[in-house]
Amino acid sequence: MAKIPFIKKDQLEAICEQYPTPFHLYDEAGIRQTARNLFKAFSWNKGFKEYFAVKATPNPTILKILEEEGCGTDCSSLTELMMSEKCGIVGKNIMFSSNETPAEEFVKCKELGGIINLDDITHIDFLKETCGIPETISCRFNPGGVFELGTDIMDNPGDAKYGMTRPQLTEAYKRLKEEGCKEFGLHAFLASNTVSNEYYPALAKILFNIAVEIKEETGVSLSFINLSGGVGIPYTPDKEPNDIFVIGEGVRKAFEEVLVPAGLGDIKIFTELGRYMLAPNGALVTRAIHEKHTHKEYVGVDACAANLMRPAIYGAYHHITVMGKEDAPCDHKYDVVGSLCENCDKFAVDRMLPEIEKGDLLFIHDAGAHGFSMGYNYNGRLRSSEILLREDGSTKMIRRAETPEDYFATLADFWNVEL
Ligand SMILES: *Cc1c(COP(=O)(O)O)cnc(C)c1O
Repeated sequence: MAKIPFIKKDQLEAICEQYPTPFHLYDEAGIRQTARNLFKAFSWNKGFKEYFAVKATPNPTILKILEEEGCGTDCSSLTELMMSEKCGIVGKNIMFSSNETPAEEFVKCKELGGIINLDDITHIDFLKETCGIPETISCRFNPGGVFELGTDIMDNPGDAKYGMTRPQLTEAYKRLKEEGCKEFGLHAFLASNTVSNEYYPALAKILFNIAVEIKEETGVSLSFINLSGGVGIPYTPDKEPNDIFVIGEGVRKAFEEVLVPAGLGDIKIFTELGRYMLAPNGALVTRAIHEKHTHKEYVGVDACAANLMRPAIYGAYHHITVMGKEDAPCDHKYDVVGSLCENCDKFAVDRMLPEIEKGDLLFIHDAGAHGFSMGYNYNGRLRSSEILLREDGSTKMIRRAETPEDYFATLADFWNVEL
């Protein structure tokens, strides 16, 4: 399957006249459609809610668009909580799924009325001493071992720092009940970027069975089960995307099979998707500014790993469309590289692409989640702007690019020196 940019070349060139490259571009129509499909796929569940993982794309405009579609926020740090508050997304519209949480962040979450999702049993005492235990609380589960779907090993929870063991879960709910908690949830995130319609249903079945056991062991009836993130997207063009309707139906089947007969048919299903919601609905737009012919053929672009880190740290594939050359043969082999003094700063290695000329616009796909937000300032490189492509085709800058002044702003003595 070909990956097709959500914008045409002429329109993108017009946007570039207004906003210099590089920038992250987000497609409002795509974001809304993704959210609507998700809610529709889970509409069989009365209390269904998506808490968008803020870390994927921490921009208030994006959070507000998602809020209009019914989403809350999944926060994991003080600044994410503050951003959610600023957007007016508070109370039980916040899920606070953090780990190694500083005291002040629990205090802030409690103040906002957000739902705290405890990463560890020892955090019960920590929370009690810090700000008191809230009436609504969730616990994060880690089964250990490896997580398999059929014969495929999907991920390695036994090696993950998150969550409580199964016996700890039982202890935690007992303790929390004694401490006066009234509403309980269960959460687990066992595999990342799954391109499979089986992940959520398999995870749901595990958590639903635990809900039944917890009821028997402790008398606690869970109110919600949070399937968290992990539904992925196909970064490479050869893979089939997930079908969210098949996923929703798979979770419904497990629900009918396990929870309904146990008298737990009122449990609400929550999700904390980040990548699935935003990744395909955003792109990094960059321009070819150099070509270099040495031991390999290089195309140098005006973005670098500071704008999109996934290829550099995970060797992740991001599809690239050379705008206006969609139908040209991919008969040139390039490394597409940024300007960092790090050889891993390559958006593509040995990639077959159409012939690229200086000035060509490159659309780096699937950068809408864990893209801008993982940015950093190595080599004094500055973060780019973020542009929203609205449903009517107009654009809005939803974050300006960093300036050298921003970069120097936190230095102690810099501004005393004449430049
Ligand atoms: C990162 C994260 C998510 C979102 O993960 P995606 O892979 O983007 O869906 C959700 N919940 C928690 C607790 C996370 O850490």
